Amino acid sequence: SIPLGYFGGIGAASKAGILFKGANYLDLMTKVNTVVMDKTGTLTKGVFNVQKVASVDEDKQEEFVAIVAAIEKFSNHPIARAIVQFAKDSDNYTATDVEEISGHGLKGIVNGEEVLVGNAKLMQKFNISYDRTIEFIVETIVIAAINGEYAGYITIADEVKDDAQAAISDMHLSGIKQVVMLSGDKSSITNNVASSLGIDSAYGDLLPEDKVRHIEELKTEKNNVIAFVGDGINDAPSLALSDVGIAMGGMGSDAAIEVADVIIQTDQPSKIATSIKIAKATRQVVI
Ligand code: ADP
Ligand code: MG
Repeated sequence: SIPLGYFGGIGAASKAGILFKGANYLDLMTKVNTVVMDKTGTLTKGVFNVQKVASVDEDKQEEFVAIVAAIEKFSNHPIARAIVQFAKDSDNYTATDVEEISGHGLKGIVNGEEVLVGNAKLMQKFNISYDRTIEFIVETIVIAAINGEYAGYITIADEVKDDAQAAISDMHLSGIKQVVMLSGDKSSITNNVASSLGIDSAYGDLLPEDKVRHIEELKTEKNNVIAFVGDGINDAPSLALSDVGIAMGGMGSDAAIEVADVIIQTDQPSKIATSIKIAKATRQVVI
């Protein structure tokens, strides 16, 4: 039977907006020494804003945005939501046959033309040539191609969450020996965010399977007990693989919430350290 103290711990956590799916995760949480985190939606707000539109045909900026938005309507990604919101008055274009290509972007048909919308990796996958200097742009960039030809880009930006920096320092103070950030976003952005927040190591330009590979490597290192924190549908494999999977539950995807062991309902990364503290206090009562 489960000692009464665990119920106290689960109750205290739930009052703080942290749901433990079982008492065993409270116990495991006291042993976690490595926290691996997703960037977008976990450490950043996941609310992007369009900064700049640059279509090849300079007289057709609005049409360009409308075509991209028609495709993005089929995606739940925070990037897609920003572009759809930005283009909200344009209903002249409708996409069909839209396919989401994990970690890359989307492909679909708009008015009989094949449209690709996504990152540099997507363009490379479909052999689209474009001016490579756009890869030096600091913001997140969404590139589009129409009928196999580069058609332009849209830049978007996200902000770090208010408690992101405190979240990292609190974790270090709670005995976490390394915080690792894994992101599908560009490496330049990933590294900037990581160094400004005091994260120990960071890797960008990752596909969902690359994130899994990083966690598998960390798992082979002796004595590592790993918590993974993420919010997206692409994070589900990493959540399942880690010792403790922690999902951001407020804006997170159903798939992430389903496979997670712990759910942070308030979406605040500072609650990771809070849950470690509650778990440790609970153990002192139980033992
Ligand atoms: P992360 O949550 O770490 O950013 P994802 O795997 O969700 O990782 O996305 C990786 C990258 O794939 C994004 O940064 C973006 O460049 C591209 N991408 C994914 N979905 C879309 C989309 N709907 N529209 C445009 N780009 C996308
Ligand atoms: Mg994400």
